Amino acid sequence: MLPVFDGHNDTLLNLHLSTRGKGRSFFTRSDTGHIDLPRAREGGFGGGFFAIFVPSPSVAGEPEKNLIASPTGYEVRMSPPVEHAYAQGVAIAMMALLFRLERESEGQLRVVRTADELAQCLRDGILAAVLHFEGAEAIDTDLNALEVFYQAGLRSLGMVWSRPNAFAHGVPFKFPHSPDTGPGLTDAGRELVRACNRLGILLDLSHLNEQGFWDVAALTEKPLVATHSNAHALSPSTRNLTDKQLDAIRESEGMVGLNFSVHDLRDDGSNDKNTPLDFMVRHMDYLIEHLGVDCVGFGSDFDGTTISNEIGDVTGLPRFIAALREHGYDEETLRKITHENWLRVLRKTWL
Ligand code: ZN
Repeated sequence: MLPVFDGHNDTLLNLHLSTRGKGRSFFTRSDTGHIDLPRAREGGFGGGFFAIFVPSPSVAGEPEKNLIASPTGYEVRMSPPVEHAYAQGVAIAMMALLFRLERESEGQLRVVRTADELAQCLRDGILAAVLHFEGAEAIDTDLNALEVFYQAGLRSLGMVWSRPNAFAHGVPFKFPHSPDTGPGLTDAGRELVRACNRLGILLDLSHLNEQGFWDVAALTEKPLVATHSNAHALSPSTRNLTDKQLDAIRESEGMVGLNFSVHDLRDDGSNDKNTPLDFMVRHMDYLIEHLGVDCVGFGSDFDGTTISNEIGDVTGLPRFIAALREHGYDEETLRKITHENWLRVLRKTWL
């Protein structure tokens, strides 16, 4: 089975919040959520970016309350900024959860800090976790916490989730709509980009608005990466990437992880679990057409979103790979998009 290394999951949040994960254990097979160790093994999930996401206190576990349907799509009321001290507390608790999982796994899960460690894990069948922050609220604008989190293992950072913070402006969820929704990076945000370049922390552009994207593109010396986003031309959600953005990612030899979220795949934006796999295949075709075969991978968003019934959970990955094979993808292409491309871009980004 081809191992999959994946650009985004919210499994730590699912385990952290009992409202989401219902108290399930990572080590026991469950019907709740999308990823646990037994199901990861069955699905050939070799690892991925494990997000540390700090929910807004008011909407924890009930984001549906902020959803406003419109005749042609939807809009989600923008979450207010979260306080730095609160965010740091939650982030540390969730990092502790990941490190405890690593210890309790007795060698079956490893938090990886270098590309060699990641390659080794994929070879040996050890589940590889990249410590990723989805939103930088836990980091102070003096960037002291960044140094400490880096030493702890932070290797990937999305400056924002879909809300504003001290560094940048997240893109609000809106469909149909352009990702150009507001101002770009703050001065602190520019410093954060430079610091991540220096430390070798990947900067994730998913959830950043378009101006922020171009600000990072102008500043960074590393490949441009969106860990979990799709093509705006096929599904005009603010979370997806325009052709111009895809061109810039290609020029930088960067990477896009295909997001399995049904509402970011469909041309009508609806949150329909009965969305055929074909929508994922179409986005994959489009991304490869625009980025080339070396710059595309998976960014499932398992445990963070609505996934097609045809995938179900992480055990459905082989079905998607089979669909791509049937569609005409050769083995070399499948190796690249399942894990080799992520390894390439991380090797170029990390120190
Ligand atoms: Zn996300």
